[in-house]
Amino acid sequence: MTLANVHSFESFGSVDGPGVRFVVFLQGCKLRCKYCHNPDSWKMADNQLISAEDIVKKALSFQDYWGKDGGVTVSGGEPLLQIDFLIEFFKLLKAKKIHTTIDTSAGPFTLEEPFISKFNELMQYTDLVMLDLKHFYAKEHYALTKMDNTHILQCAKHLESLGKDVWIRHVLVPGYTDNEQHLKDLGAFIKSLSNVKKVEILPYHSFGKFKWDNLGLKYELDDVHTPSEEEVKRAKELMGLI
Ligand code: SF4
Repeated sequence: MTLANVHSFESFGSVDGPGVRFVVFLQGCKLRCKYCHNPDSWKMADNQLISAEDIVKKALSFQDYWGKDGGVTVSGGEPLLQIDFLIEFFKLLKAKKIHTTIDTSAGPFTLEEPFISKFNELMQYTDLVMLDLKHFYAKEHYALTKMDNTHILQCAKHLESLGKDVWIRHVLVPGYTDNEQHLKDLGAFIKSLSNVKKVEILPYHSFGKFKWDNLGLKYELDDVHTPSEEEVKRAKELMGLI
């Protein structure tokens, strides 16, 4: 039995996959996104250690609210850092025919063993992957998140080879991710993937800034504004989404 290191739960998530969802936020992330809303989830230090069985029980107590589309999402932090737990957890949920979603930035993804066999096993129990693409270019991705993105794009291609349903998420950050050519290239990459069911452009906002302040971390995006509806529309047009 593998215990999950849990950051928090949300009983009625409405933005983390189809329908109403029970969302498990796992602790730990190795990216350092400048706009992260949950910097308190970065450390792998033990938070709440809970078994897959106990989380299934907790999730099921909300099942009446899910309707036909809802289910369970695991987010973070970065869920794939706890892949052994995810396999156990999703196996139990699929045995009960519950819709399963992972919200990931694919930071831990690699085609190397033992990870890739575990990942492929996990995908057998996963209905949907919400994949965050932070930036299409490696250098800019590193500047924004302190991690290269070669393996993240590889993850997108691997999910296509598995035929797994994917929703892509991209945070529009003025001055960082809204460059015209970047949006065109990112859009073309996403269009080249045959398994993408939805693309969401999320306007940057600074709601998580207070957490950075509380942790004594320097928040570098103070001068960045939240994109207007017009700016989001422009991004969607450049990406070929509308
Ligand atoms: S991947 Fe998510 S949790 Fe990790 S630093 Fe980025 S925004 Fe924060």
